[in-house]
Order: sequence, then structure tokens, then C-alpha cells
Amino acid sequence: MLCRKIVCVGRNYHGHIAEMKSEDPMEPVLFLKPPSSLIGDGDSILLPRGIGRIDHEAELAVIIGNRGKNVPVEDALDCIAQVAVFNDVTARDLQATAKKKGLPWTISKGIDTFSPISDSCPVENVEDLQDLDIELRVNGVIRQRGSTSEMIFSVAELVAYISRWMKLEEGDIIATGTPEGVGPIQPGDLIEVVIPKVGRLANPVQSL
Ligand code: MG
Repeated sequence: MLCRKIVCVGRNYHGHIAEMKSEDPMEPVLFLKPPSSLIGDGDSILLPRGIGRIDHEAELAVIIGNRGKNVPVEDALDCIAQVAVFNDVTARDLQATAKKKGLPWTISKGIDTFSPISDSCPVENVEDLQDLDIELRVNGVIRQRGSTSEMIFSVAELVAYISRWMKLEEGDIIATGTPEGVGPIQPGDLIEVVIPKVGRLANPVQSL
């Protein structure tokens, strides 16, 4: 399936909002990552030198199967074909500098290899998208552990909201936000993300 866009959701878990010292959003915070940043399970996350801290962000991703525009919340889950495990890798220092200047944080999120995604599985395999555990390990040590039950905006609400502004097309990926525990990654690390019933993702980290 060709991916034309990756729509990401920021600030969708209270724990992560607190650790970033951000404020709870009144409506979903959206940004885009370029499809050119996608890599698969087993591929290396390549860290450019000299850009400071780079963080992992474990997330549930949903992949659109049926086009949608102005989709009502009650029909929103019908747009989803597949689910996958996603790591919204972020150049945190570049993002902080951009935020401070009131500038877009595009570069911090869009660098090549900064969007690892697992093999996807049919959404029908998942009983309840709002009852999934998310776990991320760095070199075998648990760094993030959360549940999609803690989302501020549910997957259905996100799909409906996004479709008000951007038509959703087959193959589009929505990354639904990260729970608390984001932290830095270093060359030589192995980053593993698991969402039971959805998939698993393991990516080594290398410097460029
Ligand atoms: Mg994120």
C-alpha cells in the first residue's frame, strides 16, 4: 500500500504532556512526517551527528483502508484497514529550539529513518483499539509502558478530526501519540517496541 502521508498526533497522553511540561490540548495537535522517513522492522535508525538529543516515542499506528472526508466519529473506525507499531523518533533539541522560536518542528520529526514501523496486521485482529498495552525497551530495559486506554482523544475521534481538514486516503498512516517515558537513544542501542496483538518492532541505532 502506498503511503502518501503520515499524520502524527502530539500531546495525546497526560503522562507525556507532564514530562514535556506542555499543556493539555483543547483539540488534537497534528503534524506530518514525510513518508521518506519510513523504515521497517530490523532497519537501522541513523542519527545525524551534532544535532543533540534524539528521543524514542512508542506509538500505535493505524493505516487507512477506506477514503474518508468529514467522517463522523461513529463511522471513523470503518476507515481503518490495518494497525502497526510505530516509533516517532524525534530530534528533541532541534524541536525545542523550533518551539522556542515559534517555528515549525518539521525537521526534528522528518529526518530519514525517523519513522520505524512494524509489519501491519488487520484491524479485525484487535478487539478494542483503546485497550492495548504499549511497551518500549532500550537494550532490553523498559523505558515506556502505557496503554491506549490513557489516550486523551480516542482513535475514532482522531480519524474524524483529521478528516475534517485533510482527506484520508488508502495507505495513509496515523500515529496516535506516545505515552510517558520518552528518552534519548544512542548509537549502538537496540530499540524494541511491542504492542501485543498488533506487532513488534526492533531497530538498531547507528550514527551517520
Ligand atoms: Mg509522537
